[in-house]
Order: sequence, then C-alpha cells, then structure tokens
Amino acid sequence: MTATPTHCPYCALQCGMTLHPGRGAVRVAPRDDVPASGGGLCQKGWTAAELLTVPDRLTTPMMRAGKGAPLEPCTWDEALDRVAAEAVRLRALHGPDAVAVFGGGGLTNEKAYLLGKFARVALGTSQIDYNGRFCMASAAAASGRALGLDRGLPGPVTDLAASGAILLAGGNVAETMPPFMRHLTAMRDAGGALIVVDPRRTATARQSDLHLQPAPGTDIALANGLVHLAVTEGLADEGYIAARTTGFDAVRTVVNAYWPGRVERITGVPVPAMREAVRLLARAGRAHVLTGRGAEQHARGTDTVSAFINLALALGLPGREGSGYGCLTGQGNGQGGREHGQKADQLPGYRRIDDPAAREHVARVWGVDPGTLPGPGRSAYELLSSLGAPDGPKALLLFGSNPAVSAPRAAHVEERLGALGLLAVADVVPSETARLADVVLPAAQWAEESGTMTNLEGRVLRRRRAVPPPDGVRTDLEIIAGLAARLGAPGEWSADPEAVFGELRRASAGGAADYSGITYERIEAEGGVFWPCPSEDHPGTPRPYLDRFPTPDGRARFVPVDHRGPAEDVDADYPVYLTTGRVLAQYQSGAQTRRVPALAEAAPGPFVELHPDLAGRLGIEDGARVRVESRRGAATVRARLTTAIRPDTVFMPFHWAGEGRANLLTNPALDPVSRMPEFKVCAVRLRPRSSR
Ligand code: SF4
Repeated sequence: MTATPTHCPYCALQCGMTLHPGRGAVRVAPRDDVPASGGGLCQKGWTAAELLTVPDRLTTPMMRAGKGAPLEPCTWDEALDRVAAEAVRLRALHGPDAVAVFGGGGLTNEKAYLLGKFARVALGTSQIDYNGRFCMASAAAASGRALGLDRGLPGPVTDLAASGAILLAGGNVAETMPPFMRHLTAMRDAGGALIVVDPRRTATARQSDLHLQPAPGTDIALANGLVHLAVTEGLADEGYIAARTTGFDAVRTVVNAYWPGRVERITGVPVPAMREAVRLLARAGRAHVLTGRGAEQHARGTDTVSAFINLALALGLPGREGSGYGCLTGQGNGQGGREHGQKADQLPGYRRIDDPAAREHVARVWGVDPGTLPGPGRSAYELLSSLGAPDGPKALLLFGSNPAVSAPRAAHVEERLGALGLLAVADVVPSETARLADVVLPAAQWAEESGTMTNLEGRVLRRRRAVPPPDGVRTDLEIIAGLAARLGAPGEWSADPEAVFGELRRASAGGAADYSGITYERIEAEGGVFWPCPSEDHPGTPRPYLDRFPTPDGRARFVPVDHRGPAEDVDADYPVYLTTGRVLAQYQSGAQTRRVPALAEAAPGPFVELHPDLAGRLGIEDGARVRVESRRGAATVRARLTTAIRPDTVFMPFHWAGEGRANLLTNPALDPVSRMPEFKVCAVRLRPRSSR
C-alpha cells in the first residue's frame, strides 16, 4: 500500500500525519500541510501506529452464555443476532427506552450521525448520549447562549499567532496538545502575552507571561473581577458593547460586587496580577480568551464559561478578525461528535430535538414520520446512573467510550453496567468497560477505515484508510448497519462512509452546523472545509461571527453570573481540594495509550500531585503510596511532591484503571444547563497507605 495522508487518532488538534505501511510496522511521519499542527506531532502521535498491533487487539466477537459465564468467541451473526434479539425482547417488555446507546467524541462524523439515527429510528429510543458530555458540554452551552453558535475556535488556529494577548483558562496545552504551543510561542515571540489561569503551575503556565492561580471552583469570581476591573479602569469597549451586544447593564451590575480585594480573598489571586491581565488583554489590539476543561468541568461550568465570554465581550473581542472567544475541544472529534445527533437533546446539524421544524426536516431525510422520533433523553451521567434501575434502560449498546474509567463516581457506574440485562460494547481493545460486556464486537480503528473528523477549529478533515483491518474485525458503520437490518429499521443503512456522509450533508442542511456544501472531494482539494458551508460553491466559514452573531437580533448576549463555589466544598472531614486532568503521554481513559509501550514507560501509573507543605503536615513522602478518599470512594496512588500546586489542592490524572482510578473519587454533581459533571473539584482527604 502507498503512503496515506491522514490525521492522528487522538486529540482535537488532529495533527496531520502520513502513514507509510511497510513489511513490518507502519511508519508515522508528520505532515507540514496541516495548519493546526504545522509539521508537529506529540509523543502520542509519533507512536500512534503501535495501536494497530497491540497484542490484545480484539479480532473475534465474543459473548457470554449467561451472567457470570466467561466471554467466549462466537460468529458475527451470533453476536449481532443476540444483540438484536435482546433489544427486541427488552423493548417489548419495557418499552423503547429500555435500550440505550452511548457514543464517543472520538467517533467520526459518519459514525456519530449513524449512531444517532440508529437510536432514534432503529431502536426508537430517546436514551442516547455520549462521552462528550464529560468533555466540553459547558463551553458548548455557554457559546450557544452568548454567541448563538458553538464552534470551537473563532477562526483558524493560525490566527492565534497574530494575537497581542491570549488568556487561557483551564487548559494545559503544553501537555495535552503540544503542537498547539507553536501558535502561542509564535505570538509571544512577536511580543504578545500569554496569560494562564490554572490552580497548578502546569507546563503551559510555566511558559506564560502571567499565571493566575485561583483556588479550584473560583473561576467565576475571578472572571467577574476581571470584568469589574475592565469597567472601572475604562478598558471596556463601550462602542463595541453598544453596537454588537445586549445585556451588559445586568453584567455591569453583577460585577460591581466583585471589587479586586474581595476577588483576591475568594480566589487567592493577587490584585496586581488581575490588573495586569486585564490591561494586557485590553491593550493588545487583537486578543483571545480561551477555555479548556479546567473552566468547563464544573457543576456551574456553563456559568463559568459565560463569565469568561463576558470578559471577552466587555473587551470587544468576539466578531473581530484575529480576536475572540474559543473553546479548546479535547477529543479527536469532540467538535463533530457534538453536531450530528449522538447527543441526548440534538438531531443532526446541531438541531434541537424538541424543535418541530428540525424533527420534520430530519425525519424527511430519514424517511420516517416525525411523530415516531423520540424526544430528548437522559444526559450521559444520568443515563449511566439509571442503567438497570426500575425506570432505566435494561440494555446498553456502547461505541467508542470507556465509562468504567472515565465517568465520575466510577464504581457506581460500574455497578450500574453490571445491572444491565445486556451490555454490548464495540471496541478495538478489551477496555475496562468491554470486559464487563455480555457481547463484545471487535471494531476497526482510525487507520483501518475512512471518514471525516472536525477539528477544534471547525475544519472538516478526511481520515483515510491506510491499512486493512485485521481479519474478523468490522467497522462501527458495518456493525450499526448490521443491527439496523436485523431490527427491520426503515430507510437506508449504508456502511459506506462516503454514502453516510452524503446523508449527513442532507440531514445537516439548514442547521447551525450545515455540512451540505462539504464533499470528500472538496476536503481533499482544499485540505479541509470550515462549517457552516451551505452549498458546494460556498467557501466555508473560517470566522463565523465577523458580520453578525447567529442570534435572532445578530448581537452577542452578555449573561450575568454569580460566584457560588464548588458543589462540594472542603470541610473538617475532607479538607483538601482534588482536581483532575491529563498528562502528556496518556489520553483519556488510557484504553489506547496504556497499551503503547513508549507511552506506558513515559507515564507508567497513577499518582497524586501535592505540595510539600501539605505532604509534610500529613507525613507523606515523595513516592510513597497514598490513600486518597472522597465521599464516593478511595483510590491508592503514588505521591508526587511539587511546589507547582497550591497547598490546599491535590491533582490526579484520570488515565488509569484499578485502585488508582481518579474517577472513583470525583463528584457527579451536574451543571444544570450542560449536564456536565464536576470533574474539576471535589473534597478529599489523604493519608499514607500504611496508616489506618
Ligand atoms: Fe495527536 Fe493531539 Fe498529539 Fe497532535 S497533539 S499528535 S492530535 S495527540
């Protein structure tokens, strides 16, 4: 086979790479024709081809004869027949919502689309959501209500290099997507300033010009304080506010209460640092406010992001070329994955499922009566938490996700998975969730199949097949189409990615995320196309807010928000904040990266990062085993002492299973708007493992 240009299987930067299949291993080389990565790859990208040959790759369908029985190899017909028959049986007994579907933000656009259609048409269930609800759902909700659209960055990522200042709240890109740093470095080399907001002095914060280190759960107070300073120092852009926004008076009233001294007491950020941040942003000419998971994964994540969007709007940034607010989407298709209907409340084209016109349009494309389409279902955690309950789903079909590790309050989620009548998991490797399944469906992976991904810029890219999948493996599209056929689903059920994309284009036409003008040929010829793109002669939309915001009156909306602190604060029993996140050499639940030897060697196991002052008080030494307890469970990990974290806070990465699982501890308190769980802060206590 020849060299194949494609993109990395992991994060939303979707770095360009060429795969060179040979007699032995597939060789990876970076592509320099992809603007987002500009010839860069991180360690995960360089070693991505090793995923194709991991020793425990799933290549045979398996199922259990009954609960407690071992997984035994079976044929594809046996596996798919069993899933379809159980779905029919449980649906007949309990109604259509007895069968649930769970997707992932790493699935291609085609898979995300077909999975949503499969749930609504083939199963008739409202119970579908995906792991993106754990990722950037708060930013999506806040962007939608303020800017009228949720589309990652406000322009091409290369715009960042021309910024005069960037405030990055809750994102550690130096570890999570290292090639992204080149855009920030270019900005700094040209005299721009990078301001990082993070409770930890991360690798990104160390490369910043200004690091604001607030206590976990106090971002709203900080952002409100920055808006307060912008107003009182005369740095708010009153002309822009009058011409392009609504609602500033309400925000002005709220931020009156966030005078600098009070904000310093709440957040711990010194007043001079706050003042400097506002001045740098306001005087930069072009500037960006960006958020990552640190700002978003909160029980008030939507309000937290709104507070940062308010700051961007007060300074007149969104809707100006080279400036704006943006969300750094995390998962590989975190952007596209939320646009095509695998969310509980949405239909393709980023349409609301409770919008009669949207239902009419999509039902016409699907060839069904709109009255047969179910309404909105439960959000991801609520869905997982209800599995097997009297009023919850009795079967779950899961694609591209590993909630036994990645969901909050993971032991509870694992218990609910075990209470199902049927758990069917399509995956590449025996993830922790696949090992719990009644039926395991071995799936093809990134370099073995074709499709499209939408990166963090909103640019639709081609993922290309470079090698054939192993014998015995099927693509997710083939699995979904095979199940739809067995269920007698009406309409077309192609497993060909380009045919599915053609249907997705029609379903998305006229929606906010309009892909109708995007074709595989155009993506090939143009190196990617930005949505919305409503016709084949439309150039695509790299900067969607320049003329007007896609709101009813064309203006962006300020949203007043108040600080209330985390859902679970520290107290005498649990006196330390826990925050969670990622490390460079691992990705998400680690199901893929833990199997790559170089990555496993670079980041071999779980740990808790804590300040030496806290460690000294608790009698914990560097490298010692530590028991970390919250109200939901306990984890045992190695201590890693560092002055890069606040003494009142500890950090755990969430990539590992077993006794070091960070999500045994996390709080599933949900944001009322986005239904995002509060991964980023809960209360814990620590003790050396040997003590009782
Ligand atoms: Fe892959 Fe993301 Fe690393 Fe790029 S930054 S190589 S997309 S994991």
